[in-house]
Amino acid sequence: MFEIDDKGIRITGSELYLDGRKKSPLSFVSHAHSDHVRRHEQVIATPATINLVRQRNRKINAIPLDYHQRYPIDDFSIELLPSGHVLGSAQILIERDGLKLIYTGDFKPGKNLTAAPLEVRRANILIMESTFGAPQFVFPKEWEIIERLAKFIDRCFGSGIVPVVMGYALGKSQEALKLLGDLDYQISIHPLIGQIVQVYEQHGILFKNYQIYQGEDLRERILMIPPHLARSHAVTKIWRTRKLMLTGWAVDPDARYRYGADEALAFSDHADFNQLIEFVRQVQPERVFITHGFDSFVYYLRKEGFKANLLEETPQLSLF
Ligand SMILES: [Zn+2]
Repeated sequence: MFEIDDKGIRITGSELYLDGRKKSPLSFVSHAHSDHVRRHEQVIATPATINLVRQRNRKINAIPLDYHQRYPIDDFSIELLPSGHVLGSAQILIERDGLKLIYTGDFKPGKNLTAAPLEVRRANILIMESTFGAPQFVFPKEWEIIERLAKFIDRCFGSGIVPVVMGYALGKSQEALKLLGDLDYQISIHPLIGQIVQVYEQHGILFKNYQIYQGEDLRERILMIPPHLARSHAVTKIWRTRKLMLTGWAVDPDARYRYGADEALAFSDHADFNQLIEFVRQVQPERVFITHGFDSFVYYLRKEGFKANLLEETPQLSLF
């Protein structure tokens, strides 16, 4: 059914790679985070993913596929399903001779404000990410995250401090911007986030109460920046700030130091440990292969009764 070579996961007997790691003739691109996008000759992705990649000035030769649009390749068919990670993010369902394979890409169950919600289908073979596939990574409930975020901001305002909210420019920032704008906070966003917000808006996701940061007075305003700018002059020149990093890694109390932040909050665009396990229970696969995460997750899946392996240890699967 699939084979692993130096370019990544390839569907046997075809030129189709799944998030190919190197330049490939044809690759499915699950979403627009840069670790998933290479200069392939041709890509298959959702229209939003294609626009997000193009926004970064990357020319791509693309076959746009909407969610649920079936597309035949060689002797199999493919269908993209929402994965709840960022705008346009998709799983791919591959069907050949009545057997189904799902490759998840990055995914997050539950409600999203800016991405279509994860859709779960049953499949014989599941290839999945396991970014937070260790039991210590259990995220707080959604209401608790919102409450902690609002309290952080209100505390800053109460002390005359500028709250700086940090999240990756694609995905996390838009989800936080949507949430905070809808709560009627006023937000100044870094232009790098603004460029991506524009693409979201083109796809019908609308945001309130924000402007692109141009050095304006930040009294009673939130400043939102990508984490790599935490120590940049644009931020350090602001008189009093307190920085909050939004990341699933916040479950580890030391995570904030890694990002140069004062605090961290487990506001994530990935599944946590329990959600990863629950996802596999719902897909009910005969074989599971994990990638992008904690290797030890295979043992937890085996404990649950699944036949699980590391993808990297499985150069070829031809049973199906
Ligand atoms: Zn991602």
